Amino acid sequence: LLDADGRVRATVFAEMSALATRTGALNLGQGFPDVDGPPSVARAAADAILAGTNQYPPGPGTPALREAVAAHQEARYGIRVDPDREVLVTTGATEALAAAVLALVGPGDEVLTLEPFYDSYAAVVALAGARHTTAPLRAAPDGFRLDVEALERAVTPATRMVLLNSPHNPTGAVLDADELAAVARVAVAHDLLVVTDEVYEHLVYGVRHVPIATLPGMAGRTLTVSSSGKTFSFTGWKIGWVTGPEELVTAVRTVKQFLTYVSGAPFQPAVAGALTDPAALAWVDGLVASLAARRDLLCAGLTAAGFDVVRPDGTYFVLADARPLGFDDGAALARELPARAGVVGVPVSAFTHDGSDAGRALRSFVRFTFVKRQDVLEQAVERLAALR
Ligand code: PMP
Ligand code: GLN
Repeated sequence: LLDADGRVRATVFAEMSALATRTGALNLGQGFPDVDGPPSVARAAADAILAGTNQYPPGPGTPALREAVAAHQEARYGIRVDPDREVLVTTGATEALAAAVLALVGPGDEVLTLEPFYDSYAAVVALAGARHTTAPLRAAPDGFRLDVEALERAVTPATRMVLLNSPHNPTGAVLDADELAAVARVAVAHDLLVVTDEVYEHLVYGVRHVPIATLPGMAGRTLTVSSSGKTFSFTGWKIGWVTGPEELVTAVRTVKQFLTYVSGAPFQPAVAGALTDPAALAWVDGLVASLAARRDLLCAGLTAAGFDVVRPDGTYFVLADARPLGFDDGAALARELPARAGVVGVPVSAFTHDGSDAGRALRSFVRFTFVKRQDVLEQAVERLAALR
């Protein structure tokens, strides 16, 4: 968490966004939309502020938002959770994940994630004093796929939790039925807890997202995490949630009390409205359709620029291998990209452990986001063509 001089290390996203600002490059690094979510939802938050929803809300989240989360889980996936005891509102998915890990593992425990992994996982596992183990996703013709044998091999008697992520950042992989079944089989066989990060649950293109909590034997051992940031394009509101068995949610709530106490009062009614408003959900469908087109635009542009591209089925990220262009170090390329092409991406090495299997395989990869306006993507693609 600290650099060699003991200073707090900026996350790779903050570092890359700062690089984009400093150089004036197009920012395809940090994943945040350059168009806000539905105006009606923004207005609901503004109305809540003006109506006086400005003091500490209830610790577990406002009843209306907990009910909306439960209703969404049931309508979309048939998952039934009790809004009073099995739903907790958090300050983004980030807090839900941190509180879950801090609540449920400690020194002597191992937490198993996919690799590459979202950067906060390694940090919170370290904060909990636990050990981080991984199973690689490997590039295949149909996208990144889980190495199930490596997953089975990675489990030890110390493994306590699988911290899963699908749709997956940074690869864009959406775990299929076989992969999910394999994870569930391992979790049941070794009696593991599963914390599943499903913040991109809505952002899938032509494939289905299946929550692992719906698989046999999983509901009682799984905490499901999501967030309004990605679904409704309000990443700055930081309203997330976690659902699952009462005992596990209570453990997370206990820790949450001392991390943030409660989460943004006026945003909670706005998100509750969005989760239950057919017009807001139709807006999300429109976002997904437009993201599918933007994915295709960016993938085609990166391919034309000479990258090897693995087309993602979900999220708003695409991984591009720079080896065909003569770069085998994605981190070095990411630092040079603003000067060479006026574009910022994130080196995939930020999502891997040094020297790991996945780290070696993905050393030459850079992650680009396509959650930017079409004209921005077109301009970025034009600029990247200069790399040839
Ligand atoms: N998990 C993953 C995989 C993410 O990509 C993100 C968003 N960057 C988060 C968690 C954090 O979500 P939030 O902004 O709701 O804290
Ligand atoms: N999740 C976003 C990404 O992967 C950024 C969030 C952050 O900056 N922490 O780019």
